[in-house]
Amino acid sequence: MSSDAPIRSSEDLHRVPEPEPLPHGKRFATKAKTDVPSVVDLLGLDLQGLEDLLVDMGEKKFRAKQLQQWLHDKRVASVDDMSNLSKALRDKLKQQAALLHPTIEDVQQSVDGTRKYQLKTFDGHVIEAVYLPNVSGEGKHALCISSQVGCALGCTFCATASLKLTRHLLPGEIVGQLYTVMRDLEAEGLAPTSDVGKAKRSVTRLVYMGMGEPLHNYEGVVASIRQFTGEHGVGLAPHRITVSTSGMVPAIARLGVDTTVQIAISLNGSHDEGRAEVMPVNKRWNLDALLGALKAFPLKARRRITFEYVLLEGVNDSDDDARRVVRLLEPFRCRLNLIPYNAHPLSPFKRPSEERVHAFQRIVKAGGLDAFIRTTRGDDIDAACGMLGAKKLEAARQEQRGLPVVE
Ligand code: SAH
Ligand code: SF4
Repeated sequence: MSSDAPIRSSEDLHRVPEPEPLPHGKRFATKAKTDVPSVVDLLGLDLQGLEDLLVDMGEKKFRAKQLQQWLHDKRVASVDDMSNLSKALRDKLKQQAALLHPTIEDVQQSVDGTRKYQLKTFDGHVIEAVYLPNVSGEGKHALCISSQVGCALGCTFCATASLKLTRHLLPGEIVGQLYTVMRDLEAEGLAPTSDVGKAKRSVTRLVYMGMGEPLHNYEGVVASIRQFTGEHGVGLAPHRITVSTSGMVPAIARLGVDTTVQIAISLNGSHDEGRAEVMPVNKRWNLDALLGALKAFPLKARRRITFEYVLLEGVNDSDDDARRVVRLLEPFRCRLNLIPYNAHPLSPFKRPSEERVHAFQRIVKAGGLDAFIRTTRGDDIDAACGMLGAKKLEAARQEQRGLPVVE
């Protein structure tokens, strides 16, 4: 199989190439991955990339700043909205480039205020982003974003896994999730309106915990982080961005060099055999390799690594598991988020009882770990962790009920 054949299953992981060094201002042509004509991903270009594009078009370099302002400060929805650019320039731009932000297909709002966005990519794939207002206190609003269409890693408890991987998202499609949601919140009167973005923010934290494995799409994710944390645009501080990974070890080290974002690790098992059972990635990079990479991770002062631990009844929730987790995490400045499994028909697990969850927490806390039970949000709209992939989920539910599946 050639190395650029699409990665469709976790079995294909052995041939996932090491991520390439990140090119500055690289244009991401989409030709190889879709049937649509090759087009430049405007929202994914840095200043240098915009300058190159303009020069190629026979335009003046200085217009790149103007373009950047329209794209990232004003966050326009189309090239035609860039009102101080001449019509001729806008037309030229549209021939070669496009804003590849996903557009809203559907929004569901939970009783707790969580808003789940089903977004459509320019080539028709559905991805999801989840808005969590006041997530860690008044005025602290998080957006959970996707990094891929589906996921190749095949974790057995995760609904996204059943979608398999269709493709990586382009940087502009990752950046565009935030901008599309911000425009919607502004239109709905749910966020402070501002056209320069920096003054008031409707989103104050970004978490790469939606669909996909962010470190599998390393280039796309790092390019999107550069847009989020740059001088222009929303200007989020890196510590307000969390990248969650199932443990793609070589990319963890690179992330620590290329960015200073927060890192979260999906642990989900207390020993190799058990972890490999639910997370096939553990067969490629086991706990030793993962924890070794984390020991070498350049953690900034006062920062901590977050570990996520999905509690699955009878699988990884015993007292012995809790004691082993303590031993594994002892060397780290960290916090442990215990996530009681969100049940869905695409996998066979059960959520442990509340008593079991609390017993597990008591043991890890007694062992000296800072451990929290993650309260489930957006449960009623399948926006909770691991539930993304709603269409597939709904189809499975209908099948269970014996109803016809409407595609
Ligand atoms: N691919 C990345 C980020 C997306 S998954 C990763 O695996 O870290 C985000 C989090 O949801 C992970 O910690 C994952 O372990 C958790 N998760 C997946 N399915 C879940 C489920 N059914 N219930 C609870 N948490 C789940
Ligand atoms: Fe992919 Fe993360 Fe789901 Fe595993 S838990 S299948 S890595 S999205």
